[in-house]
Amino acid sequence: MNSDSRIYKILNLYPEKMNMYGDTGNAIILKKRIELRGYKAEIIDYNIGDNLPSQFDILTTGGGMDSSQAELAADLQKIGPSIKKFADNGGAILAICGMYQLFGKYFQTRKGEKIPGIGVFNIWTEAGDKRIIGNIITESERFGKLIGYENHSGKTYLEKNAHPLAEQVTLGIGNGDLAHKTEGVIYKNSIGTYLHGPLLAKNPQISDFLIQSVISKELSPIKSIDQITIKARNVASKLSR
Ligand code: GLN
Repeated sequence: MNSDSRIYKILNLYPEKMNMYGDTGNAIILKKRIELRGYKAEIIDYNIGDNLPSQFDILTTGGGMDSSQAELAADLQKIGPSIKKFADNGGAILAICGMYQLFGKYFQTRKGEKIPGIGVFNIWTEAGDKRIIGNIITESERFGKLIGYENHSGKTYLEKNAHPLAEQVTLGIGNGDLAHKTEGVIYKNSIGTYLHGPLLAKNPQISDFLIQSVISKELSPIKSIDQITIKARNVASKLSR
């Protein structure tokens, strides 16, 4: 066990409404990977009406239905300024799909309703007329191959000063802005992406990027898990759509 007795806090936003595709698994994976390095970690769930903890180290949040996004919108606006300040100060965030959309400027539903976001990312999203569903593989200059599963109708557009998480989509659609064929967004230590899976199960490089932004000491490899992860990635990278 490390001499660092601090308990690293993973804040998991809206698991009651936004865990339709199992993205809460990302919080569980981060906790485990922190503990396997000899540190302590805990997951704090935050749902509509809860008190936002005054301090947390990593924020995770997942995907869900348009209706769930509308139901939590007012509550999200209340905590939005604190989350944006956390991101602007280099806080570690992983926002998946529906919450990726709401961490941008807005998500416009198929009925034309604009659900306001909190402006962590300089993006906006418009629901398309059909769902984008299937395996997805992307190539990121910074993180290499990212593998997952996508299920969304939203098409996400990046402002000129926003940086995609992955510059190329080699299988699937991703953001859906066909003029640029990118996937996700990254801002300081905050990541938004359409990749479900949960994402971190097959992409440990993202897990350790988020953890390393919080724990300054170099992270030791986790041979026991990462050998399995490599096998899973090898299988997944051969999947078709
Ligand atoms: N409701 C949003 C869409 O369809 C987000 C979906 C999701 O979170 N998987 O684009």
